[in-house]
Parts: sequence; structure tokens; C-alpha cells
Amino acid sequence: MRILVTGGAGFIGSAFVRGLLERDAARVTVLDALTYSGNPANLEPVAGRPGLTFVHGDIRDAGTVDEVMPGHDAVVHFAAESHVDRSIDDASPFVTTNVLGTQVLLDAARRHAVGRFVHVSTDEVYGSIEKGSWTEEQPVAPSSAYSATKAASDLLALAHHRTHGMDVVVTRCSNNYGPYQFPEKLIPLFVTRLLDGGRVPLYGDGGNVREWLHVEDHCRGVELVLRKGRPGGIYHIGGGAELSNRELVERLLAACGADWSSVDFVADRKGHDRRYALCADRIREELGFAPRIGFEEGLARTVAWYTENRAWWERTGGNALTAART
Ligand code: NAD
Repeated sequence: MRILVTGGAGFIGSAFVRGLLERDAARVTVLDALTYSGNPANLEPVAGRPGLTFVHGDIRDAGTVDEVMPGHDAVVHFAAESHVDRSIDDASPFVTTNVLGTQVLLDAARRHAVGRFVHVSTDEVYGSIEKGSWTEEQPVAPSSAYSATKAASDLLALAHHRTHGMDVVVTRCSNNYGPYQFPEKLIPLFVTRLLDGGRVPLYGDGGNVREWLHVEDHCRGVELVLRKGRPGGIYHIGGGAELSNRELVERLLAACGADWSSVDFVADRKGHDRRYALCADRIREELGFAPRIGFEEGLARTVAWYTENRAWWERTGGNALTAART
């Protein structure tokens, strides 16, 4: 199988590519624009493998996409602007990459009769839920420009299935954590700052609730959907640990040998969703998916990785960059 992976130099895309190539499970072309969060070092463990081709290019560029697309059996589309805070500051790259870029890819995949298109999305498209959990039938009600553009791209992908009969599948996952995550998102930002003895910013009262899934479990779910998902289907990839940000920070402080005196409570994020929760019955019942990495183990492994890979995160500059904004 030959797979085009967009955003394959980012946090989740690179984990997906490393996983496939380490098992010799496919040949892979990575298409990535190497924005601030894309990093060729994320692919170093598999660099030089004969199954890997890297193309430095933008999914918004129809000419590039048209050149790269032919010969692939499937597209797994991770490329996106992915940080909510950045979308509050400036929504325009979110609209062009997440919406327009997805449209460019769908058009090219249809023109070149690519077999399957897996569109990777997020629980954030549903907005906020106080109790219970969302099924895949829940209508989207996004709160931020990030989630609004992801919702728009999900709908475009599904429309290509309905209108053109394209073999499109959409996945929606909860918050991911693990190695190689650009240190602007909560876990790598807090861990890298705490390892340096620095201070960490916690939004509002810290009562926002998220589900946390290890990135390798997410990637295993995406691969299952790629190989066995129903055309036109939406699959939640969930079943991770549900924690308030306070509960998460408590664990991060303990893991890094710090305490609450390192935490600054800062003004809440604008439009901050209170809680996300996915019902993951469908992927479990249809495809036999269940997470394998428990949160305590996954978090310990993640903290160990950032401890041992200081050179990786110092070179990203992400920690200092976020310090300027909080
Ligand atoms: P990331 O920001 O780490 O990586 C995004 C990648 O896309 C980078 O390599 C970047 O260079 C590339 N990219 C951005 N714009 C591009 C463009 N115009 N053309 C080509 N490449 C471009 O993001 P991530 O956390 O790895 O997220 C990957 C996908 O998973 C996104 O679609 C995101 O919405 C989704 N997702 C993320 C999470 C999470 O917790 N991080 C949870 C659920 C879903």
C-alpha cells in the first residue's frame, strides 16, 4: 500500500509515519510545508528508509498536490493549523490550510482516483458538553476558529463521499499527548518549563475537562479506520483518561518534582470550551479498537522522553515562543 500522509512532520502525523515504517507496513510519501510545528527531526528515526519519500510542499498549492497525488492508494490527512490560541490571534491561516487545503487535496484525490481518503479531525468540532458524551450523530457546533475550520473540512470531506461517491472516512479524536509534540500545547509546554524550574500558566479556574489519549493509540485507531473503516463513516477515537486541567497539572507537577507554587492562574482563554467527551462505542464494536497505553504509564513515558530529549525541544524554540504570549 502506498500512502500519502499530509502533515507527516508534525506531532501526530510523524508518529503515524514512524509506526508504519518501523513495521514495514506501507510505503509512505510525506507532504508537509514545515510550518513552525512541522519538524524534519520528528522523522529522524525512520530517515533513509526506502519506504519513505519526503516532499516539502503546501497542501494549498494545487500544482504541488497534483504532482504528488498520482500513484497513491490512500491519503491520510493530518496537515492543519492545530493550536486554538493561535486561531484566536489570527484565524486566516486556519481558514486557508484547514478548509482550502483540504478542498485542494479532495479535488486531487478524486481526479487521480485515489482509493481511500482518511480525514483526521477532532472532538473539538462538537463544542462543549456538560454531562455524558457525544456520539458520531451529534451535529457540529464549534467554538473557536480552529474547531470551526476543522468542522468545515470534515463536512467538505463527507460531502465528497455523498456527492462524488469518494471513499472518505473521518476520524475525530480527543486530546493527544506523547513525544515530539511542539511545546506550546499544555503537556509539553508544562513539562519543558517545569524541567527548567520555570513557571507554568493555567487558564481560568483549571476546571476545564479533556480526555487524554496517547498519540500511539490515536495512530493505531487511524490505521484501523484506514484499513477497515466504512466509506462515508465517522469514527471517534477515544477512551482515554478524562481529567480536569487541575487534575492533569497535579500529575505533571508530581512527575517533574514541582508543586503549585510554580503555577500562575491566568485569564481564561476566550470562548474556552468547558468539557469534551467522546462516545467510542462505534470504533470498539466495529473495528475492535481499545486504547492500550494507560494514562499513568503514558505520562511517565512522555515526561521521560522530554527529559531525555532536551536538544529536540530546545531547538524548536516553542517553549520561549509561548512564554512571550502568556
Ligand atoms: P501539528 O501542528 O503538530 O502538525 C501539523 C503539521 O501540518 C505540521 O507538520 C505542519 O508543518 C503541517 N502543515 C501545516 N500547514 C500545512 C500546509 N498548508 N501544507 C502542508 N503541511 C502543513 O498538529 P498535530 O497535533 O500533529 O495534529 C495533526 C492533526 O490531528 C490535525 O489535523 C489536528 O486537527 C488533529 N488532531 C490533533 C489533536 C491533538 O491533540 N494534537 C487531537 C485530535 C485531532
